[in-house]
Amino acid sequence: MSTSGLRIFVLAAFLPHLAVSAGQEEATHTGARENMVHTQIEQRGIADKSVLEAMSTVPRHRFVPKAYRDRAYQDSPLPIGHGQTISQPYIVAAMTELVRPAASSKVLEIGTGSGYQAAILAGLVDHVYTVEIVEALADSARQLLQQEGYDNISVREGDGYFGWEQYAPYDAIIVTAAAQYIPPPLLEQLKPGGRMIIPVGSPFFVQRLMLVEKDTDGDISSRSVMSVRFVPFTRE
Ligand code: SAH
Repeated sequence: MSTSGLRIFVLAAFLPHLAVSAGQEEATHTGARENMVHTQIEQRGIADKSVLEAMSTVPRHRFVPKAYRDRAYQDSPLPIGHGQTISQPYIVAAMTELVRPAASSKVLEIGTGSGYQAAILAGLVDHVYTVEIVEALADSARQLLQQEGYDNISVREGDGYFGWEQYAPYDAIIVTAAAQYIPPPLLEQLKPGGRMIIPVGSPFFVQRLMLVEKDTDGDISSRSVMSVRFVPFTRE
């Protein structure tokens, strides 16, 4: 056998093995994801079929750093670098359900982080606009979302306090960092009849997750939904 013949033989002998183990790994993640949706999300009262479907479909393990991949489906937030975290799966599902995403909705997210929440929304709505203050996170999320084939998510680096004026108003706004108060530009960029979900309170303590609604006359009302703990909303 020539050297190149030998090389081909060696490659061929290893390839099926590699393919099987990659397939096995994906199957393990799929099983863990099904279990996550059932025990952490459905059993805690999330009933919206489209939200459950999105949580069952998006490969959360690809949105966490490699070192945490085998913990991607556990019931907790995880570090994503730069002192930031990907939210706990239940919180992502609950916030998504609370803004009542519709197929025609235009949604603004503040705090792109890993891009996971944006990916969940992208399967449910027309377009997701997401703003991230840490440039490196904005860049890596943009790259990952493109690689995963999402063509209805726009990522921008910047201070989300000012929203994203260019595409306003939005049917829904999801803020994934804890603010001391609701940034007025976000209230302005919410469509009449629209909903915003935002954790409000002191950073590093427990905050209240607030559901803010703007009625068709433009009047604002809000109510507290649950206690949460988010990373702080920072300013440029
Ligand atoms: N939605 C994210 C969770 C990210 S954690 C996910 O699914 O992974 C919150 C993110 O908000 C962090 O990445 C943080 O850098 C970002 N952030 C904090 N303050 C911000 C601001 N003023 N504007 C935009 N992003 C902000």
